[in-house]
Amino acid sequence: MPLITHLECSRCRHQVSMARPPEAVMPPSFCPVDGGTLLIRYDMKALRMRARREQPAELAARPGRSAGMWRYAEVLPEMMPISLGEGWTPLLRSRRHAGLMVKDEGANPTGTAEARGVAMALSMMGAYDGGLQGRWPVAALSIGQAAYAAAAQRKAHLFLPRDLSPEDDLRAVLYGAEVHLVDGSVEQCRRRLEYEVNHRRTAQDAGEDPWIDLSAPQHPFRVEGGKTLGYELVEQMGWTYPDALLWPPGDATSLISVWKAFEEMEDLGWVAGRRPRIYVGEIAAGRFAAALDSSSLEIVAASGGRVLRLDERTMLVALSDWAMQEGVFLSPQGAAAAAAFGPLAGGGEVRPDERSVLVNPSAGWKDGDALLAALPLRRRGRFPTSLPVGGIITPV
Ligand SMILES: [Zn+2]
Repeated sequence: MPLITHLECSRCRHQVSMARPPEAVMPPSFCPVDGGTLLIRYDMKALRMRARREQPAELAARPGRSAGMWRYAEVLPEMMPISLGEGWTPLLRSRRHAGLMVKDEGANPTGTAEARGVAMALSMMGAYDGGLQGRWPVAALSIGQAAYAAAAQRKAHLFLPRDLSPEDDLRAVLYGAEVHLVDGSVEQCRRRLEYEVNHRRTAQDAGEDPWIDLSAPQHPFRVEGGKTLGYELVEQMGWTYPDALLWPPGDATSLISVWKAFEEMEDLGWVAGRRPRIYVGEIAAGRFAAALDSSSLEIVAASGGRVLRLDERTMLVALSDWAMQEGVFLSPQGAAAAAAFGPLAGGGEVRPDERSVLVNPSAGWKDGDALLAALPLRRRGRFPTSLPVGGIITPV
């Protein structure tokens, strides 16, 4: 198991200790100099010595190796994992497009790639406040985060928009979360959560427990869990890089995490060659609007890929097409990445003799309510019966 040496800013390389400062609940979440994402760094010399003894193929065949993301224990912090079986999601071959595969992160226990980072964050938190029994509650923004809090036997304070569906309400309550309903969007939920977390930080002196903030996808512990997606992609492709990645916008997956995985694997001699070109389908406006942060955009540029801006309708056409023709219910973000494939293949930027991977960050059913509202469906009372003739390409 590797030894963590420090945290390092992904922008300015400023280094921070992993030890908890006396006045704080956890180590810092962001760079104190420029607010950049902090990355967990290991003693790579010790890791390299180990990697020389054990090549990845042997490591993969070792008896008793975990079937999920914890199979990469050699390159993860040493701890007792809080796990619901996340990781090792299917890599499916497209039935229609030569060379194209789908990495379906919707197969994770909570239906999203976020499970990897959240499992890691809750596992690491145990090392800071007394192990698996967990004294401090967590502040959460998704039902999946509440599921992992339950697995870690911690109370979750879950901030959700007031107009949530009855199914989501049921799941949140069953996971034992204390639900705080907020008027407005997820962004307003995030602001309210931050306010409450800051309040609990100052109330600590009065004997009140602090809340641990799980919600930021750029948190160093979440990035560290998210990197296992990068290791998995390379292992599932026979320890080689794909030529291109079709990447979704939004928070569930993180390019910073996957880029960190590539860097570490190259350092260990587990993979070589050109890193994949990354193409992102962005939805510019509307209810499914999603974009990338500036650090991720820098990675896209460095990879030799680019961002394609799409409208909501193009995304919805790709979503229904993949469901009907391939049996894969992509999320709106996954469908945005899928919609980028058409123009890229048409223009020869992605070729059939190449190996391309479409990353679907979460299960389409998680966005069922929004999709019901957005798709033109034939309806029998409350329920849809079919898409109109001509699908959603022809207006009805
Ligand atoms: Zn920095």
